[in-house]
Amino acid sequence: MSDRTNRIGRHLPTSGGLKKTLATIEALGCETVQIFVSNPQGWADPTPRTDAEVFVRGTTEAGIWPVVAHAKYLINLAPPDADHRERSAGALARELVAAGAIGAHLVVVHSGSHGGDGEEAGMTRLVEGLDRARELAAGYAETSDRVAEPVIENSVGAGTQLCSTFDSLSEAARRAGVRACVDTAHAYAAGYDLSTPESAQEAGDELRAAMGDSVALIHLNDARNEMGGHRDGHRRIGEGQIPRESWPGFFAALPGVPVVMETPYGTPEVDADQVRLVKELAGGLPLAPDGV
Ligand SMILES: [Zn+2]
Ligand SMILES: [Zn+2]
Repeated sequence: MSDRTNRIGRHLPTSGGLKKTLATIEALGCETVQIFVSNPQGWADPTPRTDAEVFVRGTTEAGIWPVVAHAKYLINLAPPDADHRERSAGALARELVAAGAIGAHLVVVHSGSHGGDGEEAGMTRLVEGLDRARELAAGYAETSDRVAEPVIENSVGAGTQLCSTFDSLSEAARRAGVRACVDTAHAYAAGYDLSTPESAQEAGDELRAAMGDSVALIHLNDARNEMGGHRDGHRRIGEGQIPRESWPGFFAALPGVPVVMETPYGTPEVDADQVRLVKELAGGLPLAPDGV
């Protein structure tokens, strides 16, 4: 009997069209999925997709939830430069609308960097930027359009990056009235010890204590680089610094929170094996029925 409550999926490409993404979701056994709705490395707005309705129908019929979009990496809502902030808020707003159009529920955005003005100034600007993005998105959207929910992601704490600790992520989320996404490779690089079952459970408990129900998503990634080194880098589960034995205790502290891997692609078999492995580490292959 399975007692798994975490839904498991991964980031997938959309370059072959969303119909192909749907086929991959099914082939890998994903229960949730993350995609990009624009080029994450450039400022170009998302372009409307002719296959949006197919994707909405396909994910709904297959019970894929949540559907997640990851916002552009260039977006920084917190820097000193006002033009960069306004451009970032506008870009995030476009992504909230574009994500809504393909039926996505969440848009993950990085917490950004204060650029030397200090944590407090940066956090204030991040909170203002999230407000501004939601206001702009409401203006861009037609009345019938769905607009996705922004969630902020923890950082590795490199340079002047905000929100590398669960407490600061929690504070920003609370002040902005948004929920958060916690990336495990970022948390490890920021100094959270996930190297043993005991320490991983403690980290999960600490996250739960700091954030309660405002953890909307886990980015489940093994870390390429050392704990506390503030350097990002993702590996497949069980292939980096974090032993697979760490994960059951971490999941136990975060019941019901959906999980998306952002690990390097392998062959279809390797990718399906990873989804299966994480389902087992989270408590078993079938999901527990709702309400259990
Ligand atoms: Zn991210
Ligand atoms: Zn991530």
